[in-house]
Amino acid sequence: MNYENGRSSGIKASPSMAIAMAAKKLRAEGRDIIDLSLGEPDFEPPAHVAEAAHEAIRAGGIRYGPAAGSEALRRAISDKFRKENRLDFALDEITIANGAKQIIFDAFLATLEPGDEVVIPAPCWVSYGDIVALHGGTPIYVECGPEAGFKLSGARLEAAITPRTKWLMLNSPSNPTGAIYTAGDYAALEAILSRHPRILVLSDEIYEHILLRDVPFVSFGEVCPSLRDRTLLVNGVSKTYAMTGWRVGYAAGPKALVAAINKMQSQSVTSVCNVAQAAAAAALAGDQAFVAEAARTFARRADLVATALEKIEEIEFIRPDGAFYAFIGVRRLIGKSNLAHDTAVAAHLLNDYGLSSVPGSAFAMPGFIRLSIAASDQELQGACERLARMVTSLR
Ligand code: PLP
Repeated sequence: MNYENGRSSGIKASPSMAIAMAAKKLRAEGRDIIDLSLGEPDFEPPAHVAEAAHEAIRAGGIRYGPAAGSEALRRAISDKFRKENRLDFALDEITIANGAKQIIFDAFLATLEPGDEVVIPAPCWVSYGDIVALHGGTPIYVECGPEAGFKLSGARLEAAITPRTKWLMLNSPSNPTGAIYTAGDYAALEAILSRHPRILVLSDEIYEHILLRDVPFVSFGEVCPSLRDRTLLVNGVSKTYAMTGWRVGYAAGPKALVAAINKMQSQSVTSVCNVAQAAAAAALAGDQAFVAEAARTFARRADLVATALEKIEEIEFIRPDGAFYAFIGVRRLIGKSNLAHDTAVAAHLLNDYGLSSVPGSAFAMPGFIRLSIAASDQELQGACERLARMVTSLR
């Protein structure tokens, strides 16, 4: 019996989740596995976050909330945009969902018509293309490899635009590459977009605070005010405050677009759990010392991994500027010992060396693997050793 319709069977389950599950299974069977497949901080959120959640439960009165999210959290988000990004958003220009992922899902659910094209610079986060496809859109991947600094240029954007282009998706700092767009990079894209007034921009800024080197973060919204009425800024508390399982993401954009997203929310999940929203509000409004400390930890780990990886000759590695991943070129390993593609390299690494990674093809860039650096120093050192051993054995 086939239970799935064409929409469902046309997409795959999240590859990074699937790999993490496979790694968990091997570990449960007694194998020594270092799992660097998933991107989630390996420490707890600041104590006042849990305290705010407890307080919300103790205070009671937890009922259905507004589809757009609680007023208290939207106020905290509005303050965040003003303080950190010098952007003013009214409460009805802000929405809250179960993670940034659901915001992206709702935005496309509300706006895409069959055949609409969404331009996605590749490599890109594993879920973008499938979320687009699920809503009848066509992902248009634009290759932005290491020679382009893993970033979309104005010329490449221009070449990708057709009469069907509905959205441009941007993600800075990037998962999986860690590349950060500068104000100049965004201005070049703005110049092209100003000639195409129908195109909307979704800027996923969820790694805003995970900065590893001297490259500063700048919001697309701040650089491109001329595009304000067609820009959706997507963010969340998962990465900044180590709150992946709390499932709170948010977005700011034009009122009518936000209202359409809220409508999707009201007819699907109703609203986000109030306890999680109270915790997220405490995270955003509370002491931010945790955020800088977390960034310092990731920067130190990125250094540790980079030092080890730069000694392995056969791989390509560009130090990430942000986020918490190492995106490693394994093109020179392909063809050796029957390793036909990056997925085979990742499988060999997991099955024979006990290191779980995500192949670049999952990010629309074959020939690479991604390791998360959100792990202990010991795990990261072990991971680099295992990778080095595999590379040596293929010589
Ligand atoms: N966007 C990017 C680029 C991500 O890497 C992730 C998670 O890995 C998300 C969005 C989803 O975040 P959330 O936990 O808020 O759904």
